[in-house]
Amino acid sequence: MSGENEIRQFEYKAEMKQLLNLIVHSLYTHPEVFLRELVSNASDALSKVRFLMLTDKNIIDPDKPLEIRIDVDNKQQTFSIEDNGIGMTDDELVNNIGTIARSGTLEFLKSMQGNQKLFDEALIGRFGVGFYSVFMVADEVTVETRHARADSKGFRWRSTGEGAFTIEEIEKKTRGTRIYFKLKDTAKEFSLDYKVKDIINKYSNFADFPILLDNEKVNKVTALWHRKTNEIKESEANDFYKFITNDFDDPLGFLHLSIEGNVNFKALIFIPSQAPLDIYRIEDQKSLNLYANKVLIQADARELLPDYLKFVKGVVDTTDLPLNVSREVTQSSPAMARINNILTSEILAFLEKWAQNEKDKYRAFYGHFSRFLKAGITMDFKSRDKIINLLRFESTALAPGEWTTLKEYTGRIKPFQKDIYYLAGQKRDTLEKNPNLEYFRKHEVEVLFLTDPVDAFVVPAIADYDGKKIVSIEKKEIGLFPEDKIERPEDNLSKSLIGLFKDVLKDRVENVVISKRLVESPVTLVTGKDGADPQMERMMELMNRGFVRPKKIMEVNMEHPLIKNLAQVYMASNANPLLGSCILQLYDGALLLEGDLPTSADFVRRMTEIMEAATQK
Ligand code: ADP
Repeated sequence: MSGENEIRQFEYKAEMKQLLNLIVHSLYTHPEVFLRELVSNASDALSKVRFLMLTDKNIIDPDKPLEIRIDVDNKQQTFSIEDNGIGMTDDELVNNIGTIARSGTLEFLKSMQGNQKLFDEALIGRFGVGFYSVFMVADEVTVETRHARADSKGFRWRSTGEGAFTIEEIEKKTRGTRIYFKLKDTAKEFSLDYKVKDIINKYSNFADFPILLDNEKVNKVTALWHRKTNEIKESEANDFYKFITNDFDDPLGFLHLSIEGNVNFKALIFIPSQAPLDIYRIEDQKSLNLYANKVLIQADARELLPDYLKFVKGVVDTTDLPLNVSREVTQSSPAMARINNILTSEILAFLEKWAQNEKDKYRAFYGHFSRFLKAGITMDFKSRDKIINLLRFESTALAPGEWTTLKEYTGRIKPFQKDIYYLAGQKRDTLEKNPNLEYFRKHEVEVLFLTDPVDAFVVPAIADYDGKKIVSIEKKEIGLFPEDKIERPEDNLSKSLIGLFKDVLKDRVENVVISKRLVESPVTLVTGKDGADPQMERMMELMNRGFVRPKKIMEVNMEHPLIKNLAQVYMASNANPLLGSCILQLYDGALLLEGDLPTSADFVRRMTEIMEAATQK
């Protein structure tokens, strides 16, 4: 019968020939991609017939389940893929499989030639070579197709991918398209069941239609994110999460989005239960996979999220991007920027909801991922305020382990208090003993404890909140509260004693001043106008070996009994060696409290001397 039919011969256009030549003869390192392209075409064809059936009742096989069948024969080295989708008419065969859909495709691919890596990426980056990628694995390809409408005819298309193709009419009872070929020797692995299964799992596992390989269904998971939110079971979502991340643990939670409007997309976003091991390299995190119409077009699509949110995992599926589009085009697409904006605010709002209503979850989240958020404060100006509201701190007003927000802090602020105060250091225990806290305790003014080393960078970057400056209580320039603004006249004895302190400590401190804020401790060390927190300085020392810590200012509490005693000793004899020992001991003691005393040997030796003197006779 087919012998009676006319076989029509078609010549590819010059541009098409060049494109095919490029695909066939380049040593492409990812030939497996042909399978993804064929599956995605089949899946498209199925979507189209599904749509057509909504309005047109006159369709071949209206009740057949929509599916993709792949059959491989390792002995014969053959491969076949069949769908019962929309199929193609005679004209469509000529026009769709025989021309390049998008102008610029050839130029783009040519410009990549000579750079294997870029060329590979251009193809693997979903560039529009689609169907023709099949010529990477086959010398001759046959397509048999019949359009879904009842009055259509069947056609066979055949080509060696060189210069021409043929079309003939055939007897075909079923609707849809079957593509088959003998694999090149270099590509015979694609006739192995397990190999094909692997590739489907890698690229097409979430295709919306069943894929049957030699009669066995191989794509287990459906496109969960296309369901309604309340129809996504947590257990299914968790399985999906584990599949895409290879994580063994369930995620902390997930967020499902279905956005319509300016940009259209669905997303299933997971918050893992653990931070990645190397959290400092947040730009290396594999985050969201981008689907266009249920077909994966880009794993880890960086443009979907700002770097500091890359700790989330999941998928975004949009109808606003063509499937076969280069990475470059995707990157600069306005749709991507819009999705990025919406995802950012949705994820931050989701976390805020946890922070408000699911405190335990938020605590677990914060323990692992707070540093990502903190990085966002300096990276994302638009979302800065939302991120700041997600921050949590310990404080003098709360029991250890309890957290406050800046908002709650400002709610408790004293009427005379102009600034928000903090003290940074490694451990709350040590911070509690810091003499600089005394003044604030006396006035019942709350001070935040910043115990995460990165806070020393992050909090100064906030600068102010709710019109209030955020300041370290270790800065000398700290504003005093109004009731303390009574000037006490400095007597000559105080001045002389301070002079002695300066002489003894001249290489060690920037200055010595009379303290207006110490309550219980005899002395304290504070930072000058340009100095940083001790915590910040410690970090800088770690990062930069040449870093020299700026000298501190010592404040002396003239009301303290020990200082008063020293003044008496000084009056009796300003050459008493005990004076120098005590001053050095006070200085080392202050360093010790901050955790910065380099060696305790001198400290202990001097203490012994002082005790010896004190116990004489
Ligand atoms: P793209 O999929 O980007 O359009 P392809 O080269 O892969 O590029 O395919 C070209 C066209 O051929 C498709 O747009 C579609 O119209 C048609 N086509 C390919 N495969 C099928 C199929 N299995 N069923 C119906 N039409 C198909």
